[in-house]
Amino acid sequence: MSALLEARGLVKEYEIGSAFAGRKRIVHALSGVDLALKAGETLSVVGESGCGKSTLARCLTALAAPTSGSVLLDGADAQNLLHRDPGRFRRAVQIVFQDPYASLNPRRSIGQAIGDGLRLHKLCPARERRARVCDLLEQVGLSEDHVDRYPHELSGGQRQRVAIARAIAVSPRVVVCDEPVSALDVSVQAQIINLLSDIQTALGVAYVFISHNLALVRHISDRIAVMYLGQVVEIGDAAALRAGLAHPYSRALFAASPEIGRDRDAPGAKPLEGDVPSPLDPPSGCRFRTRCPFARERCAQEMPALRNVAGRDVRCHFAEEIVGAGFAMSC
Ligand code: ADP
Ligand code: MG
Repeated sequence: MSALLEARGLVKEYEIGSAFAGRKRIVHALSGVDLALKAGETLSVVGESGCGKSTLARCLTALAAPTSGSVLLDGADAQNLLHRDPGRFRRAVQIVFQDPYASLNPRRSIGQAIGDGLRLHKLCPARERRARVCDLLEQVGLSEDHVDRYPHELSGGQRQRVAIARAIAVSPRVVVCDEPVSALDVSVQAQIINLLSDIQTALGVAYVFISHNLALVRHISDRIAVMYLGQVVEIGDAAALRAGLAHPYSRALFAASPEIGRDRDAPGAKPLEGDVPSPLDPPSGCRFRTRCPFARERCAQEMPALRNVAGRDVRCHFAEEIVGAGFAMSC
């Protein structure tokens, strides 16, 4: 059975600079990402800033076309589907952005913003649209009173509720949430997370959940993918990853989290030092080798493949050795 939404060998490069001056350069934002989302599950994506999470979100939702590789919905190529039947892909795969203010048009009322998808996809007759919008507002914890208001009249948390209502209005099967609570007050974050969880229970929607909050990710995910410099370096069931991490980068990343990093003497559990190398000029071989305490000659010469070790997929030549050295660093 094919996955609901799948990335296959996804590569995304951005050209920057001027070709005239001979200073054209390539940002390697995604370098061969493979992942498959199952119906109804939550797959979290974590990794430092700049590792390609938002680029992945834009490719998965077809807001950006990959340079090579493909995104598949029910096994069908997204780019083909967008030519043949754009509504089908757009309805099935929705996105919620980090900044709900930037993602809502300030000149469109809340009712219009949520109703747009219903209108565009002809999901309910015009005369019933307002009632349907009010139902959706209720479903996200707002009320009929909000329908004629404008984004600037709402708080950040309320705006994010509107963005969520807009996403679920078209009955999607996947919602990609790109750091959906990072811009909100801490007190509001839990409410929005609970709302997303209630919606998943009610609608059976699958989430790709991009977040910096590792404690939260550990709690809410069915599976977790760890990204480094445009690649997935470890992906597996949350339960397996909670029991222990197999990639040196995952260990260092989780060790840096104050709520999680317990055993800092465990192998590879020292918090990360230095910056992520530039995606303009990624290291040869393993991309993490310049910061990796286990790096050896082979790591500079040969890019490790993503392969199954200890019940998860991991991109490290020496994963067995690292696992063998102990799983003391739990996430
Ligand atoms: P993340 O969301 O993990 O912080 P992004 O996907 O936003 O990472 O960015 C990955 C890399 O691609 C970064 O180096 C970023 O500067 C670069 N990038 C993202 N969008 C563009 C763009 N439109 N043009 C050029 N470079 C970009
Ligand atoms: Mg981002």
